[in-house]
Amino acid sequence: MVRDLVQRMGLLGTPDRLQVPPRLAAREELERFHSPRYLDLLQRAELGEFSDEHLAAGLGTLDCPVFEAVYRYPAWATGATLTAAEALIEGRAGVAFNPSGGYHHAMPSRAAGFCYINDVVLGVLRLTDAGWRVLVLDVDAHHSDGVQLAFYDRRDVMVISLHETGRALFPGTGFEDEIGEGEGRGFTVNVPLPPGTTDRQYLRALREIVWPLVDVFDADVFVVELGMDTLAGDPLTHMRLTNNIAAEVVTELLARDRPILALGGGGYNVPNTVRGWTLCWSIFCGANDGLSDYGVGVGGVLLQNTDWIGGLRDPVSVDEPTQMAYLDREVDHVIAKVQALVFPLHGL
Ligand SMILES: [Zn+2]
Repeated sequence: MVRDLVQRMGLLGTPDRLQVPPRLAAREELERFHSPRYLDLLQRAELGEFSDEHLAAGLGTLDCPVFEAVYRYPAWATGATLTAAEALIEGRAGVAFNPSGGYHHAMPSRAAGFCYINDVVLGVLRLTDAGWRVLVLDVDAHHSDGVQLAFYDRRDVMVISLHETGRALFPGTGFEDEIGEGEGRGFTVNVPLPPGTTDRQYLRALREIVWPLVDVFDADVFVVELGMDTLAGDPLTHMRLTNNIAAEVVTELLARDRPILALGGGGYNVPNTVRGWTLCWSIFCGANDGLSDYGVGVGGVLLQNTDWIGGLRDPVSVDEPTQMAYLDREVDHVIAKVQALVFPLHGL
């Protein structure tokens, strides 16, 4: 749906906005992060085999059911992320976006949270193999636990995850004091936010934690996981953002003039997710936000949704004062805690 929409807006399939076919990631590529045993289980599940060992690896659960292409689908999604990373490394693109990526919960030997193979980790490894220092910014509503695990002791990859607190949401991790270890101490940053968080608090977290760290780390390339399950109306989370936040994230990254590998992620209100990713893509393309050129058409006709006819952007949220005071206080604590733990390690 995202591809159809950006195509109809004229933002894909032109010489400077190429649509590049993905490839199936090779098994050896997947073994950079996943155990051979686990990949065997995935391949065998695809052939119809199922055992207790599959269940123990998270397969055949409600979150990670076995389906017809349970190995090939995530291997294609990973191939797309690798294709995107390679386009950046080879200088063929300044921004590469794989909306079918961002499977940040997959673990070395276990599927979790709708994720089977961790394309984010594998994409970052491809970039570090090229000698690049990588900043991963994960703005999905869920903690980027698989990515954190992969780079917890490395200082050439900084992983910043903003998410709804693990006290209220899967996977139950990603607290302020998870900051990396050994060489990597200070290079994992978690910003757990209270349920109900709105744009106002999120913007403060971005401005007071994220952008100062992004600037001091001074990465060669940005990897951004653009989960849209933070948007108000998502059925699985309790965040209440508008897509103006995603627009802010993308705009700030672009302003820093580095290659960008953008990935999708969660997003369970489909029309809102489609609109959010299309908005991000239009900004990556240097196009406007879909308002002035496309006007009411985007909401009313192209999105086949008459809830909101103002273009790709959500209306700015209206804050309710008493609740804002509570959320502001909560987020103040989080910001102060993260700054105290991480900033001194970077001379901030
Ligand atoms: Zn998510």
